[in-house]
Amino acid sequence: MKFKCYLCENTKTNKQKYRHLEFKGEILQCNNCELIQLHPLPDENDIKLFYSEKYRIKRTDTSLHKEYIQSLQKHAAQQFDFIQSHISIQKSWKIMELGTSAGYLLKKFHQNGNTIIGFEPDKIMATNAKSQGLLIYNEVFNPDLIQEKVDIILLSHVFEHLIDPLDLMKSFEKILKPGGYIFIEIPNDDIESIEIYTSIDRSTYAHTFFFNSITFTNLINHSKNYNIEIINSAGMTKINWLQERRTNIIIKGVKKIWKIFNKKSKTENIYIKGMIPNNYENLNKGVALRILLQYQI
Ligand SMILES: [Zn+2]
Repeated sequence: MKFKCYLCENTKTNKQKYRHLEFKGEILQCNNCELIQLHPLPDENDIKLFYSEKYRIKRTDTSLHKEYIQSLQKHAAQQFDFIQSHISIQKSWKIMELGTSAGYLLKKFHQNGNTIIGFEPDKIMATNAKSQGLLIYNEVFNPDLIQEKVDIILLSHVFEHLIDPLDLMKSFEKILKPGGYIFIEIPNDDIESIEIYTSIDRSTYAHTFFFNSITFTNLINHSKNYNIEIINSAGMTKINWLQERRTNIIIKGVKKIWKIFNKKSKTENIYIKGMIPNNYENLNKGVALRILLQYQI
Protein backbone atom coordinates (compact mmCIF):
# COMPACT_ATOMS: atom_id res chain seq x y z
CA MET A 1 0.00 0.00 0.00
CA LYS A 2 1.33 3.40 -1.00
CA PHE A 3 2.00 5.93 1.77
CA LYS A 4 -0.40 8.84 2.11
CA CYS A 5 -0.04 11.20 5.05
CA TYR A 6 -3.10 11.07 7.34
CA LEU A 7 -3.05 14.84 7.71
CA CYS A 8 -1.82 16.50 4.49
CA GLU A 9 -2.17 13.57 2.04
CA ASN A 10 1.41 14.05 0.84
CA THR A 11 2.81 10.75 -0.51
CA LYS A 12 6.53 11.25 0.22
CA THR A 13 8.31 10.33 3.43
CA ASN A 14 11.61 11.15 5.05
CA LYS A 15 14.35 8.55 4.82
CA GLN A 16 14.08 7.06 8.27
CA LYS A 17 11.90 3.98 8.57
CA TYR A 18 11.33 2.09 11.79
CA ARG A 19 9.60 -1.23 12.19
CA HIS A 20 6.57 -0.92 14.46
CA LEU A 21 7.05 -3.35 17.32
CA GLU A 22 3.41 -4.24 17.84
CA PHE A 23 1.51 -3.75 14.59
CA LYS A 24 2.56 -4.93 11.15
CA GLY A 25 4.01 -1.97 9.32
CA GLU A 26 6.53 0.79 9.60
CA ILE A 27 6.78 4.10 11.39
CA LEU A 28 7.16 6.81 8.74
CA GLN A 29 7.41 10.58 8.76
CA CYS A 30 5.68 12.74 6.15
CA ASN A 31 8.30 14.94 4.48
CA ASN A 32 5.82 17.81 4.15
CA CYS A 33 3.99 18.28 7.49
CA GLU A 34 6.40 16.03 9.49
CA LEU A 35 3.65 13.98 11.08
CA ILE A 36 4.94 10.57 12.17
CA GLN A 37 2.53 7.68 11.78
CA LEU A 38 2.25 3.95 11.47
CA HIS A 39 1.95 2.79 7.87
CA PRO A 40 -0.29 1.14 6.97
CA LEU A 41 -2.64 2.18 9.75
CA PRO A 42 -4.51 -0.80 11.23
CA ASP A 43 -8.24 -1.14 10.57
CA GLU A 44 -10.98 -1.55 13.21
CA ASN A 45 -10.66 -5.36 13.17
CA ASP A 46 -6.88 -5.28 13.63
CA ILE A 47 -7.40 -2.97 16.58
CA LYS A 48 -10.09 -5.10 18.23
CA LEU A 49 -8.00 -8.24 17.89
CA PHE A 50 -4.88 -6.52 19.13
CA TYR A 51 -6.42 -5.09 22.29
CA SER A 52 -8.39 -8.23 23.13
CA GLU A 53 -5.47 -10.62 22.70
CA LYS A 54 -2.07 -9.02 22.63
CA TYR A 55 -2.06 -5.74 24.49
CA ARG A 56 -2.44 -7.13 27.99
CA ILE A 57 0.25 -9.72 27.39
CA LYS A 58 2.66 -7.10 26.08
CA ARG A 59 2.14 -4.69 28.91
CA THR A 60 3.81 -5.49 32.17
CA ASP A 61 2.21 -2.75 34.24
CA THR A 62 -1.48 -3.64 34.01
CA SER A 63 -1.57 -5.60 37.26
CA LEU A 64 -2.48 -3.11 39.93
CA HIS A 65 0.35 -3.54 42.39
CA LYS A 66 0.92 -0.93 45.08
CA GLU A 67 3.75 0.97 43.41
CA TYR A 68 1.89 1.18 40.13
CA ILE A 69 -1.25 2.49 41.84
CA GLN A 70 0.81 5.15 43.60
CA SER A 71 2.37 6.26 40.33
CA LEU A 72 -1.08 6.45 38.70
CA GLN A 73 -2.43 8.51 41.61
CA LYS A 74 0.51 10.91 41.51
CA HIS A 75 0.14 11.33 37.75
CA ALA A 76 -3.61 11.98 38.08
CA ALA A 77 -2.98 14.61 40.77
CA GLN A 78 -0.50 16.42 38.49
CA GLN A 79 -2.96 16.35 35.61
CA PHE A 80 -5.79 17.66 37.79
CA ASP A 81 -3.56 20.49 39.07
CA PHE A 82 -2.64 21.39 35.49
CA ILE A 83 -6.31 21.59 34.45
CA GLN A 84 -7.33 23.47 37.60
CA SER A 85 -4.52 26.01 37.17
CA HIS A 86 -5.85 26.98 33.72
CA ILE A 87 -9.63 26.62 34.07
CA SER A 88 -11.95 27.55 36.90
CA ILE A 89 -13.75 24.21 37.24
CA GLN A 90 -17.38 24.66 38.33
CA LYS A 91 -18.94 22.01 40.58
CA SER A 92 -21.94 21.84 38.25
CA TRP A 93 -19.75 20.73 35.34
CA LYS A 94 -20.02 17.27 33.78
CA ILE A 95 -16.82 15.45 32.97
CA MET A 96 -16.28 12.55 30.57
CA GLU A 97 -13.13 10.47 30.22
CA LEU A 98 -12.19 7.97 27.53
CA GLY A 99 -9.66 5.38 28.65
CA THR A 100 -9.98 6.00 32.38
CA SER A 101 -7.37 3.38 33.27
CA ALA A 102 -7.81 2.72 37.01
CA GLY A 103 -9.91 5.89 37.34
CA TYR A 104 -7.73 8.20 39.42
CA LEU A 105 -8.07 11.34 37.28
CA LEU A 106 -11.84 11.02 37.08
CA LYS A 107 -11.89 10.40 40.83
CA LYS A 108 -10.32 13.84 41.39
CA PHE A 109 -13.28 15.41 39.57
CA HIS A 110 -15.72 13.17 41.47
CA GLN A 111 -14.19 14.41 44.75
CA ASN A 112 -14.52 17.96 43.44
CA GLY A 113 -18.29 17.44 43.24
CA ASN A 114 -18.57 16.99 39.47
CA THR A 115 -20.86 14.52 37.69
CA ILE A 116 -18.61 12.07 35.90
CA ILE A 117 -18.81 9.31 33.27
CA GLY A 118 -15.97 7.16 32.01
CA PHE A 119 -15.16 4.48 29.45
CA GLU A 120 -12.40 1.91 29.85
CA PRO A 121 -12.03 -1.16 27.62
CA ASP A 122 -9.66 -3.02 29.95
CA LYS A 123 -11.66 -5.15 32.39
CA ILE A 124 -9.23 -5.03 35.32
CA MET A 125 -8.81 -1.25 35.07
CA ALA A 126 -12.57 -0.68 34.66
CA THR A 127 -13.33 -2.87 37.68
CA ASN A 128 -10.86 -0.93 39.81
CA ALA A 129 -12.35 2.38 38.68
CA LYS A 130 -15.89 1.17 39.42
CA SER A 131 -14.85 -0.03 42.87
CA GLN A 132 -14.10 3.60 43.76
CA GLY A 133 -17.73 4.53 43.18
CA LEU A 134 -17.20 5.94 39.68
CA LEU A 135 -19.65 5.53 36.80
CA ILE A 136 -17.53 3.57 34.31
CA TYR A 137 -18.55 1.56 31.26
CA ASN A 138 -16.29 -1.33 30.33
CA GLU A 139 -16.11 -0.47 26.63
CA VAL A 140 -14.13 1.78 24.26
CA PHE A 141 -16.69 4.59 23.85
CA ASN A 142 -20.41 4.82 23.28
CA PRO A 143 -21.66 8.38 22.67
CA ASP A 144 -25.29 7.17 23.02
CA LEU A 145 -24.70 6.81 26.76
CA ILE A 146 -24.04 10.56 27.07
CA GLN A 147 -27.47 12.00 27.83
CA GLU A 148 -26.41 15.55 28.68
CA LYS A 149 -23.61 17.52 27.07
CA VAL A 150 -20.37 17.58 29.00
CA ASP A 151 -18.05 20.47 29.97
CA ILE A 152 -14.71 18.69 29.88
CA ILE A 153 -13.51 15.60 27.97
CA LEU A 154 -10.39 13.89 29.30
CA LEU A 155 -8.02 11.89 27.08
CA SER A 156 -4.90 10.81 28.92
CA HIS A 157 -2.57 8.77 26.72
CA VAL A 158 -5.43 7.77 24.43
CA PHE A 159 -5.00 10.06 21.44
CA GLU A 160 -1.81 8.39 20.19
CA HIS A 161 -3.63 5.04 19.95
CA LEU A 162 -6.39 6.21 17.61
CA ILE A 163 -6.66 5.25 13.95
CA ASP A 164 -8.73 8.33 13.05
CA PRO A 165 -8.19 11.11 15.63
CA LEU A 166 -9.93 13.78 13.51
CA ASP A 167 -13.04 11.61 13.31
CA LEU A 168 -13.11 11.34 17.12
CA MET A 169 -12.68 15.11 17.47
CA LYS A 170 -15.63 15.54 15.10
CA SER A 171 -17.78 13.15 17.17
CA PHE A 172 -17.01 15.18 20.31
CA GLU A 173 -18.79 18.16 18.76
CA LYS A 174 -22.10 16.40 19.47
CA ILE A 175 -21.45 15.86 23.17
CA LEU A 176 -19.29 18.80 24.24
CA LYS A 177 -20.86 22.09 25.29
CA PRO A 178 -19.82 25.13 23.22
CA GLY A 179 -16.93 26.69 25.14
CA GLY A 180 -16.17 23.31 26.73
CA TYR A 181 -12.67 21.91 27.08
CA ILE A 182 -10.71 18.84 26.04
CA PHE A 183 -7.73 17.82 28.14
CA ILE A 184 -5.22 15.72 26.24
CA GLU A 185 -1.96 14.16 27.35
CA ILE A 186 0.19 12.41 24.75
CA PRO A 187 3.81 11.33 24.45
CA ASN A 188 6.13 14.07 23.17
CA ASP A 189 7.70 12.22 20.26
CA ASP A 190 10.21 12.95 17.55
CA ILE A 191 11.97 10.73 15.03
CA GLU A 192 15.07 10.43 17.25
CA SER A 193 13.12 9.20 20.27
CA ILE A 194 11.43 6.64 18.03
CA GLU A 195 14.86 5.50 16.87
CA ILE A 196 15.85 5.02 20.50
CA TYR A 197 12.66 3.21 21.55
CA THR A 198 12.69 0.83 18.61
CA SER A 199 16.42 0.14 18.91
CA ILE A 200 16.13 -0.91 22.54
CA ASP A 201 12.87 -2.78 21.88
CA ARG A 202 10.98 -0.46 24.16
CA SER A 203 7.55 -1.11 22.86
CA THR A 204 5.78 1.87 21.38
CA TYR A 205 2.72 0.57 23.27
CA ALA A 206 0.50 0.26 20.24
CA HIS A 207 0.82 3.90 19.23
CA THR A 208 -0.46 4.72 15.75
CA PHE A 209 0.59 8.39 15.73
CA PHE A 210 3.64 10.08 17.21
CA PHE A 211 3.08 13.76 17.90
CA ASN A 212 5.14 16.71 19.02
CA SER A 213 3.81 20.21 19.66
CA ILE A 214 4.13 21.21 15.98
CA THR A 215 2.43 18.19 14.43
CA PHE A 216 -0.25 18.13 17.13
CA THR A 217 -1.00 21.81 16.48
CA ASN A 218 -1.28 21.03 12.74
CA LEU A 219 -3.79 18.30 13.47
CA ILE A 220 -5.93 20.55 15.65
CA ASN A 221 -5.89 23.24 12.97
CA HIS A 222 -7.45 20.66 10.62
CA SER A 223 -10.25 20.05 13.11
CA LYS A 224 -11.29 23.72 12.76
CA ASN A 225 -13.62 24.13 15.76
CA TYR A 226 -11.01 23.68 18.46
CA ASN A 227 -8.47 26.19 19.75
CA ILE A 228 -5.33 25.22 21.57
CA GLU A 229 -5.45 27.13 24.87
CA ILE A 230 -2.21 25.70 26.19
CA ILE A 231 0.34 23.09 25.14
CA ASN A 232 3.08 22.28 27.66
CA SER A 233 5.91 19.80 27.78
CA ALA A 234 5.38 17.65 30.89
CA GLY A 235 6.60 14.67 32.85
CA MET A 236 10.17 13.55 33.45
CA THR A 237 12.87 14.37 30.93
CA LYS A 238 13.54 11.91 28.14
CA ILE A 239 16.99 11.07 29.49
CA ASN A 240 15.56 10.27 32.93
CA TRP A 241 12.83 8.22 31.34
CA LEU A 242 15.37 6.21 29.41
CA GLN A 243 17.41 5.63 32.53
CA GLU A 244 14.46 4.62 34.67
CA ARG A 245 12.54 2.39 32.32
CA ARG A 246 14.63 -0.43 31.02
CA THR A 247 12.49 -3.53 31.17
CA ASN A 248 13.13 -4.53 27.61
CA ILE A 249 14.52 -7.74 26.24
CA ILE A 250 18.00 -6.53 25.36
CA ILE A 251 18.53 -4.78 28.67
CA LYS A 252 17.32 -7.89 30.47
CA GLY A 253 20.27 -9.62 28.79
CA VAL A 254 22.55 -6.81 29.95
CA LYS A 255 21.15 -7.18 33.47
CA LYS A 256 22.29 -10.81 33.53
CA ILE A 257 25.79 -9.58 32.76
CA TRP A 258 25.52 -6.94 35.49
CA LYS A 259 24.69 -9.70 37.94
CA ILE A 260 27.84 -11.56 36.99
CA PHE A 261 30.12 -8.53 37.26
CA ASN A 262 28.07 -6.64 39.81
CA LYS A 263 28.62 -3.35 37.99
CA LYS A 264 25.08 -2.32 37.41
CA SER A 265 24.98 1.43 36.98
CA LYS A 266 28.17 1.86 34.97
CA THR A 267 27.27 -0.75 32.36
CA GLU A 268 23.76 0.58 32.20
CA ASN A 269 24.77 4.16 31.52
CA ILE A 270 27.20 3.13 28.81
CA TYR A 271 24.48 1.00 27.29
CA ILE A 272 21.88 3.79 27.33
CA LYS A 273 24.37 6.31 25.92
CA GLY A 274 25.06 3.90 23.07
CA MET A 275 21.39 4.04 22.13
CA ILE A 276 21.18 7.83 21.88
CA PRO A 277 21.92 9.45 18.50
CA ASN A 278 24.83 11.94 18.70
CA ASN A 279 22.80 14.87 17.47
CA TYR A 280 19.78 14.31 19.71
CA GLU A 281 18.89 17.61 21.31
CA ASN A 282 15.60 16.86 23.04
CA LEU A 283 16.93 14.77 25.93
CA ASN A 284 16.00 17.42 28.45
CA LYS A 285 12.48 17.90 27.15
CA GLY A 286 9.53 16.27 28.89
CA VAL A 287 8.35 12.86 27.71
CA ALA A 288 4.77 14.10 27.43
CA LEU A 289 2.68 17.00 26.18
CA ARG A 290 -0.18 18.32 28.30
CA ILE A 291 -2.78 20.18 26.27
CA LEU A 292 -6.02 22.07 26.81
CA LEU A 293 -8.31 22.66 23.84
CA GLN A 294 -11.41 24.78 23.82
CA TYR A 295 -14.40 23.98 21.65
CA GLN A 296 -15.39 27.19 19.91
CA ILE A 297 -18.37 27.56 17.64
ZN1 LIG B 1 1.81 15.27 6.02
